[in-house]
Amino acid sequence: MRTSIATVSLSGSLTEKLTAASRAGFDGVEIFENDLLASPLTPEEIRGRCADLGLTIDLYQPMRDIEAVPAEEFACNLRRARHKFELMRRLGADTVLVCSSVHPLAVDDDALAAEHLSQLADLAQDFGIRVAYEALAWGRHVSTYDHSWRIVEAVGHPALGTCLDSFHILSRGSDPKGIENIPGEKIFFLQLADAPLLAMDVLQWSRHYRCFPGQGGFDVAGLVRHVLHTGYDGPLSLEIFNDVFRQAEAGPTAVDAHRSLLVLKETVGLATPPAPVVPTGVAFAELVTPDAEPVSAVLGALGFARTARHRSKPVDLWELGEARVLVNTAGSARRDGTGLAAIGLESPDPAGAARRAEALLAPLLPRRRAPEDAPLDAVAAPDGTELFFCATDRPELPNWRADFVEVEHEAGPAGMHRVDHLALVQPWHHYDEATLFHRSVLGLHAQESVDVADPYGLMRSRAVTNPDGSVRIALSVGAAPTDDTVHAQHIALATDDVVAAARSYREAGGRLLPIPANYYDDLGARYEFADGELETYRELGILYDRDAHGEFRHCYTVTVGRVFFELVQRDGYRGYGAQNAPVRLAAQHVLRPGR
Ligand code: MG
Ligand code: MG
Repeated sequence: MRTSIATVSLSGSLTEKLTAASRAGFDGVEIFENDLLASPLTPEEIRGRCADLGLTIDLYQPMRDIEAVPAEEFACNLRRARHKFELMRRLGADTVLVCSSVHPLAVDDDALAAEHLSQLADLAQDFGIRVAYEALAWGRHVSTYDHSWRIVEAVGHPALGTCLDSFHILSRGSDPKGIENIPGEKIFFLQLADAPLLAMDVLQWSRHYRCFPGQGGFDVAGLVRHVLHTGYDGPLSLEIFNDVFRQAEAGPTAVDAHRSLLVLKETVGLATPPAPVVPTGVAFAELVTPDAEPVSAVLGALGFARTARHRSKPVDLWELGEARVLVNTAGSARRDGTGLAAIGLESPDPAGAARRAEALLAPLLPRRRAPEDAPLDAVAAPDGTELFFCATDRPELPNWRADFVEVEHEAGPAGMHRVDHLALVQPWHHYDEATLFHRSVLGLHAQESVDVADPYGLMRSRAVTNPDGSVRIALSVGAAPTDDTVHAQHIALATDDVVAAARSYREAGGRLLPIPANYYDDLGARYEFADGELETYRELGILYDRDAHGEFRHCYTVTVGRVFFELVQRDGYRGYGAQNAPVRLAAQHVLRPGR
């Protein structure tokens, strides 16, 4: 089934939008009238540009306030329509979108609406054009898809059909099952958009918060299944109005958009990309730094031992139990100092994981960084983090550890086990994209998004996990465009005794993030602790939380570059301490350089 995208969904000039849509693999576009009006290209040139890019023009839109208006208004509308149909002929577009009227003088009269749409369809037919009539959720008198279909059916004109838009249908809570009563050949067009579930004015909701299928709260796939039952064989087209996408670069947005349709096609059985290969653990986290000293000092104090060095590159392997951290000083060009640049994910089938990723438009990375390296399957996440699919203890497969030569080291302390979670800060416009990526490409489960207050803004955070919790990645983002480096990434290490781990870290010269006394006064008011427990937490800067499943104790190292470490003791608890995040963020701001 063909894929299409409305030019309004992407930022930039019309030329930039068309190029981005083509590069991302779309088959066609909806030309949004404002994009055409603002373009220096003639309609013929736009047509030629689309043809060169391999794009069909599937729809021209929108035509508004046509029907059920006073006679003199309607006469003007027909004149306007004739101009637009002439334009569409030059453009090579054969379907026009007509939205249900919001004209203040429009009357609630289906017979008049039908009469006007019939005359419009007569005119369109002379131009070889089809009219797709769409019920806007805020249409003055026609606001539901079944109503617009009743009018189209009553007209019974071959050049008049309906346009279904998942936002308009699902935002009003209409039951999409009724779509199956419409003959497929009378559905002239299908526009798809998701949206977060918000309680707000539907027009504002639509104009600012639409998002790609799978990124919001609507059952878009369920709606598409009903449409497919009718025999509809037109394109699946994305029509997204979104404040973030308007500002984000068109290229990545178009890829994100196309990925959402590929996932949707898979969900409804229209495509069968390679199945997801869910990662089964964290093989390593790789830090890139211009200076290994500060981060090595933190790792050493945490009890990590430097166990091996890369054969040919300035990369050290540090280990503590099953937690492994690579410290890479080859990437010293990073503008923001030490950062989490790559994650090794244990994979039951690294090659299969890469095939899945490629089918869902994730950029594959070269299998070898250097000729002598083990060939590893790797892709780039939307934020640029490199994800390596690893098979650490499987001799039959290429092993990243084979690139490392053991160095003499002492055994680390007991009690620290593995990476509990990794927290990646997303560029502000990549949050929903990142969630969809990790969910669809890696087959991880996305938890609810939570808002966290920061002293200088608001953060949103959402975890993606595998079924047994051995892979947990917390994706977070500032709620407004900000300097992405304000918020740091972190590596959380699971320990079975956070008090012992924190003490031992401090005794080894490590610095923990100081937490204000007020936090502990509040904690003592909320929970009852054993004698001395609260005092111990206060002394070390250990934070506490509890959920229906158990308890959580955690503390933080100071930040090095863009990265800090968290020590967590998770006793049944399933969250990430979001309750405590505002206190942590405030404490980190106090320690920021220049303050
Ligand atoms: Mg629409
Ligand atoms: Mg954390």
